[in-house]
Amino acid sequence: MAIATELVQLTAHRASELVRTREISSVELTRAILEQIDAHDKTIHAYLHVTAERALEHAKRADEEVARARAMGDPKASPLRGVPMSIKDVISTKDVVTTAGSRILENFVPVYNATVIERLENAGAFLIGKTNPDEFAMGSSTENSAYGVTKNPWDLARVPGGSSGGSAAAMAADEGIFALGTDTGGSVRQPASLTSTVGLRPSYGRVSRWGVIAFASSLDQVGPMTKDVRDAAFILNLIAGHDEHDSTSVNTPVPNYLNALQDENLRGMRVGVPREYFVEGMAGEVESTIRDAITHLETLGAEIHEVSLPHTEYALPTYYILAPAEASANLARYDGVKYGPRADVPGDVWDVMRATRGRGFGSEVKRRIMLGTYALSTGYYDAYYVKAQKVRTLIKRDFDNAFDRVDVLVSAASPTPAFRLGEKSDDPLQMYLADVLTLAQPLAGIPAICIPAGFSDGGLPIGLQIMARAFEEEKMLRVAYAYEQTTEWHKRKPKL
Ligand code: GLN
Repeated sequence: MAIATELVQLTAHRASELVRTREISSVELTRAILEQIDAHDKTIHAYLHVTAERALEHAKRADEEVARARAMGDPKASPLRGVPMSIKDVISTKDVVTTAGSRILENFVPVYNATVIERLENAGAFLIGKTNPDEFAMGSSTENSAYGVTKNPWDLARVPGGSSGGSAAAMAADEGIFALGTDTGGSVRQPASLTSTVGLRPSYGRVSRWGVIAFASSLDQVGPMTKDVRDAAFILNLIAGHDEHDSTSVNTPVPNYLNALQDENLRGMRVGVPREYFVEGMAGEVESTIRDAITHLETLGAEIHEVSLPHTEYALPTYYILAPAEASANLARYDGVKYGPRADVPGDVWDVMRATRGRGFGSEVKRRIMLGTYALSTGYYDAYYVKAQKVRTLIKRDFDNAFDRVDVLVSAASPTPAFRLGEKSDDPLQMYLADVLTLAQPLAGIPAICIPAGFSDGGLPIGLQIMARAFEEEKMLRVAYAYEQTTEWHKRKPKL
């Protein structure tokens, strides 16, 4: 019988196998995770809401199903049977409160599951808790949540990244087996980088966003946040694919991403290193870690090519026009009529809406709504919004040209290791600069993964980002897997 630390450290693919063969029970696995949450989440605050009772009931049922399946001579079980999941609180979970980290959705209980949840539940997984996000996924540190900050398990004085910081912290602290995050401009990859976990942003259109609270609809994607590359592929297999409820989800076959994880030999793989991704202000330790990782890929047989993505420097201003513009439209629906608390003030409907939104939204969300409304207003629309759309095309073209020469691109995902709590919260521009390496990929619709690649002298994680052409997730997974299998970084755990 495995001891509790071994249980909480399990990956989803390993845990489901052990449950299926009855080497462990789903109940003991779930209990171990709940104990880990009890022991550490008061400090880390990865979760907003833990669904302990519900999870234990599901676990019990999973164990019964396994027993029944074995008795009936059917050793094949649902791929995730008995495995608990940790879900970013911007993803709707039926009958479980979903706040998006905002006061304005304080009491919002969805009446349906997001498609990704439905698919994972059909595969046998069940919810163990909702993880803390920045409010409406706007932020890079999880400090913008209305329900308190999440701390980085590697250093409690530092941020876990954002906006999926709760999911990342839950993975790093072994307070969960696997998680989902969302990535509009880096929110899966940057927190993975800051916590030594794996975060995968799929191609735009690969995964349904139905039931995911919208931030910027031309950019939002849901992605796995896991403890290793195999789990990222495993979970992607289950959530990817067309959904008639999401018209942006693409109706092309989903490959078996696990097949991409074959060996450690990268011979013939052309790896591009974009010159512009060694940005001003990048920490020396980050740069040297990425250079070492590139050398490592070369020893595995990859061909290394320097490439240029000349419009890289415009990704940040372009994103910070388009994302707020879309957000200002998406957030118009929170008016106190259909969801959440309504301000009880005298006056007409406009007074009520003004007060509801004024109290319900935090300052970063208000800033985005104002920026976005401004960029879309008559007289400024052409100068800002239309211009940004044109630059977006140029950014996409840079990637198209690069991928004519190479299979994947590699870079850092964050210019620095985890920064201190409070360090950037009074300076929005400094906060936005934390995303400088993760904004261009969503603008271009391409996938990218971030994996553990080293540590700073102070012991803070540093991640390696690998990007591929749209719908070529397999190539980046192959490189990520080869790197992971021949390095030890992902095995290091924070001291809790
Ligand atoms: N940090 C970026 C922002 O604040 C990206 C957030 C995200 O990907 N959800 O917009």
